[in-house]
Amino acid sequence: MRETSLSPDDFIYPVFVTHGKGVRKEIPSMPGCFQESLDKIAGHAKEIHSLGIPSVILFGIPQKKDEIGSGAYDNQGVVQTAIRVIKETVPELYVITDVCMCEYTSHGHCGVIEQGDVANDPTLDLLAKEALSHARAGADMVAPSDMMDGRVDAIRLALDDEGFPSVPIMAYAAKYASAFYGPFREAAESTPQFGDRRSYQMDPGNRREALREVALDIEEGADIVMVKPALSYLDIISDVRDAFDVPVAAYSVGEYSLVKAAAQLGWIDEQRLVMEILTSIKRAGADMILTYFAKDAVKLLNS
Ligand SMILES: [Zn+2]
Repeated sequence: MRETSLSPDDFIYPVFVTHGKGVRKEIPSMPGCFQESLDKIAGHAKEIHSLGIPSVILFGIPQKKDEIGSGAYDNQGVVQTAIRVIKETVPELYVITDVCMCEYTSHGHCGVIEQGDVANDPTLDLLAKEALSHARAGADMVAPSDMMDGRVDAIRLALDDEGFPSVPIMAYAAKYASAFYGPFREAAESTPQFGDRRSYQMDPGNRREALREVALDIEEGADIVMVKPALSYLDIISDVRDAFDVPVAAYSVGEYSLVKAAAQLGWIDEQRLVMEILTSIKRAGADMILTYFAKDAVKLLNS
């Protein structure tokens, strides 16, 4: 009679792909999560799929970064190659790709820099090129996380024009400027070298603004809208769920590190807390949850 219960189908597992060979480097602030080189990805994809997790989202750490983030739209780039490897090994695993520039730019910002600031419009072309290169490599869905104005529209047009009208877009629609991202930036090596992302991410104090951001992304053609982070933004997830008919995703980020750290100190019951947090995100209205806990949670669900 429980109103909300979790299932492996709820989860999308984030995977960090890096260059090199034989690399499986644990992310210090995210125990149990790794940066993995391309030769390790096939085995990991098989494991994820065999656990019953239907989907992954890929983040890339390129060998070289430059001002214009060329690695992001290189057809032989880490993410593009990882997509091909996964699709050859486990074609059933649904592959979503993060579309952003910050992992690929030397300055760590989500777009190109002009006059010391992120330039919105020139960034749109690069994001469209990046999304297209992912679709060509076989990505099932693309997920723009940059928060530039007009990027969903630019990506949709590019995908439609180049023969990928059925590749959906999951937009990071309500993405807050959050301290919960600290561990992720370590994982993706994408900490900005100057300034911060507050000019293009949302103020944590704003609730109604989230609905305006989500409405814009849906108008531009987003198929799924995402709220990020998740745990401190359950009200936003709930508002978005109530206001729109499209599927809602929630990205649980630094909560992972908090739980893992407290568990290492013996201060909390990790297993119960993981399930409670994930249940609350689903109860708030998320149809899918991007979480580093996905593998832990599925093992608990299956035990
Ligand atoms: Zn970014």
